[in-house]
Amino acid sequence: MRSGPQPADLTDVRATNLAVVLRYVRANAPCSRADIAGATGLNKATVSSLVADLIDRRLVRETGLTEHRIGRPATMLVVDGDAYAAIGIEISADHLTAVALDLAGGELLSWRRAFTGLAATPGKAASTVAALAGRAVNRATRQGRQVLGLTVGVPGLVDQQGRVSLSPELGWRDVDLHADLVRALRGPAYEVVVDNDAQLAALAEHRHGPYAGTANLVHLTGGAGIGAGLVVDGRLLHGARGFTGEIGHIQLDPQGPPCRCGANGCLEALAAVPALIRRVLPDAETDGPVTDFAPEIDRVRAAARAGDPAALDALDEVGRHLGTGVSILANLINPEVVLLGGYYVPLAQWLLPAARQQLADRTVAPAAGGTELAASDLAGGAAAIGGAARAIAAIDNGRMPARPTD
Ligand SMILES: [Zn+2]
Repeated sequence: MRSGPQPADLTDVRATNLAVVLRYVRANAPCSRADIAGATGLNKATVSSLVADLIDRRLVRETGLTEHRIGRPATMLVVDGDAYAAIGIEISADHLTAVALDLAGGELLSWRRAFTGLAATPGKAASTVAALAGRAVNRATRQGRQVLGLTVGVPGLVDQQGRVSLSPELGWRDVDLHADLVRALRGPAYEVVVDNDAQLAALAEHRHGPYAGTANLVHLTGGAGIGAGLVVDGRLLHGARGFTGEIGHIQLDPQGPPCRCGANGCLEALAAVPALIRRVLPDAETDGPVTDFAPEIDRVRAAARAGDPAALDALDEVGRHLGTGVSILANLINPEVVLLGGYYVPLAQWLLPAARQQLADRTVAPAAGGTELAASDLAGGAAAIGGAARAIAAIDNGRMPARPTD
């Protein structure tokens, strides 16, 4: 897509300046109008007018606190968490997670529901997700909040129109999930977006938790597959069609086990959660494929804790495969940190040593180019948090919501 000079009209300038002030307040709250003017270079009258507009839109509020500095007392401002809610839902192979955040980033709800991805048809999945979204919307509406948006994260290739062109984890091909959801939600007033789960998880890491604000970071999803969400130079990478980060399908061993994508020896076939469970718990699939990973991951963890040599060997090997995958990222984009998410989090203490060693050995830059490898703090809900954060990020970038009616 070409991008060149865009014609700017006055509404654009106003929205841009509102966003500048909102971002400043988010990063520096509590702060005064004079602080904003001093830091942004906007003059005091303009800042007063912009702040009045943001208060009117219920994006910012006065705290009631004042700070006495030189001259007049200053009224302090913070982001208003009361008027809006943004909802994110993560579809995984074995569960759904729903999260709602207020505009200040506070968590309003976090729900986890059992869900059998491979057994659910796309239509059934859409109606299940819509029902869960509906309950979250009702909760927010009863609190007097305006819903800013619903973003649904899907493991797989999701195009910019919200169509899932391929999800090996869910067994989907060419599913117009966006259209199905809008229909199931009966044409909601808020925006509905379908996006790749790893990209949303990376957005969550970029806005929340200990690595918030890191300009170059990666989140690796640890579920039935492995996706990489990439933030590079402060921006989430989408690529030409939205299909970035499919590191799970990089082939590490042409003679390796079959992958659901049709190839052999992909990183995913060697190191995603089903492969890990298969290695550590050979009995886990005697009654058919595992449909809920959580209890099996608990068993893996228990075996590792007990010092079971076979479990420790398997975790070490999976860690090495992950380290190889991460070294490819380190060589390509030189991130400051790569965060292991999902079910890798409870196993991180056994995965990380081998993964870090492999990362150091396979990255051409000394000390892995400074790339740190760590467990995510956002655990299983990262894509859901990122889904909710997406609508809030859009406002921070100048897409002002419709004014609340009250
Ligand atoms: Zn594959």
